[in-house]
Amino acid sequence: MAQQRSGSNLYIDTRGKRTEGIPFTQAVIEGLAPGGGLYVPERLPRFMLEDIMALAELPYAQRAAAIYRAFDIDLSDEVIVELMERSYGSNFDTEAIAPITALDDRTFILELWHGPTSAFKDMALQCLPQFFSASAKQLRERGELDHDFCILVATSGDTGKAALEGFKGVDGVSIGVLYPKDGVSDIQRKQMVTTTGDNVSVWGVCGNFDDCQTGVKRVFGDEAFNAELLSEFSVALSSANSINWGRLLPQIVYYISSYAELVAQGKVDAGAPIDVCVPTGNFGNILAAWYAKQMGTPIATLLCASNENRVLTDLINTGSYDISDREFVLTPSPSMDILVSSNLERQLFELTGRDTDAIEGWMRDLNEDRAFRIDADTFRKLRDGFKADSIDNATCLRTIKEVFDAHDYLIDPHTAVAYATAENLRGENPVLVASTAHWAKFGDNVYRALHGIPAGEELPADVASLTGCQLNELIAEETGKHDIPAGLADLDAMTVRFTDAIANDQAAIEDTVRAFLAARDR
Ligand SMILES: *Cc1c(COP(=O)(O)O)cnc(C)c1O
Repeated sequence: MAQQRSGSNLYIDTRGKRTEGIPFTQAVIEGLAPGGGLYVPERLPRFMLEDIMALAELPYAQRAAAIYRAFDIDLSDEVIVELMERSYGSNFDTEAIAPITALDDRTFILELWHGPTSAFKDMALQCLPQFFSASAKQLRERGELDHDFCILVATSGDTGKAALEGFKGVDGVSIGVLYPKDGVSDIQRKQMVTTTGDNVSVWGVCGNFDDCQTGVKRVFGDEAFNAELLSEFSVALSSANSINWGRLLPQIVYYISSYAELVAQGKVDAGAPIDVCVPTGNFGNILAAWYAKQMGTPIATLLCASNENRVLTDLINTGSYDISDREFVLTPSPSMDILVSSNLERQLFELTGRDTDAIEGWMRDLNEDRAFRIDADTFRKLRDGFKADSIDNATCLRTIKEVFDAHDYLIDPHTAVAYATAENLRGENPVLVASTAHWAKFGDNVYRALHGIPAGEELPADVASLTGCQLNELIAEETGKHDIPAGLADLDAMTVRFTDAIANDQAAIEDTVRAFLAARDR
């Protein structure tokens, strides 16, 4: 299915700052391109329908390997297969890796939360660290790299734990995660501070997520500190954020694979179109579905689901991306609470026919005016491929209850935003709804939904005093849904390894990173 593989598919950047393309391994190590652009592959592979259907006969890891090979990445076939087997094996709680549950004959839920942290970030973050480490190794062997890496992540919840699980035990990499000390749920905090492994550390920061992120950004920008880490510890800082192409590629895999699966199960006729509905924040997951479509998967319309932070829905419906006068809203689906959607840049790059000048201009407008408007032709293309809707907090919680009552199936608030959007926008085609978290990751709002308590309202005192694990147990009793993943069910019993709270400033973070790396070197 792939053409002769030679690693010749190079990566170019969305702002045209690099004059020559770079190989996959280098794009993964660099993450962000010089000048702030994002990397995309020069060529997209194209799959015939029978190539897609043939994937259904392979285990998930081999499906992923076949798709990476088709992208013609500069790692050997043996290495790709080995890394995929490590990424998608017994670390997931089902052999299917990303199974599909049919709610009826035209609504299919793609469960992306069977990985170690019970959220969809695992699909990419079990894979990226393997490829990051192998890429560094290959560059090192060629004399193009002479240091190790320290990944620093500021997290508001899901990403931190998924990155810890992905990078723990990976050669040549350490990882430190900073979270707002009082700004994450009991479950999210316990997930992070109980992480095992020698190359990991977790720090609570006094302040909110913005403070955390600002602190980390300053550390990345401190040239003297970065030079010191390189000379003292032979370590360069890196981030694992969702703009890395190595996080996007694993997400393309499950959309192609799902179509194969639906046909193999007799749910969809071979070649018949489906729509895909994705709860969207940084636009990574839905962009992956768009790439799967370009590569030949019979996907018709992409349904973009927003919560009350509806900047993407407004863009798709008006052609204008405007955060100049937009408030950041806290919702029951916190992983979609964003204003600046970083992967959108790749989508616009593709829709403009890869016009680097247009992207430069819009990103400059966004920076200077907090807004930009896309041209009529790009707007038309966006309207051709996407539909979008935003779901308010009350509807989100009501949807959880409705889906449970109608289908005896419990969904989390992010999935509920997607489900409600699919109901509002769907046409003739069957819809594949991306389900991005297990309900037990967001038990407090699932409890509110089941008991008709409005979003943002306090839980009754006897419920509020429960730990996250105890609350999930209560919900399991009430609903008969006893499928709480072990990684969430056992949290209260696990040893807390990380209790450090640090001040919310650059110097404190830098001291903490120094101490972490020094302790690792001993
Ligand atoms: C990250 C996340 C999303 C949003 O995905 P994007 O790729 O940023 O659009 C949705 N749901 C959950 C549970 C997430 O963790």
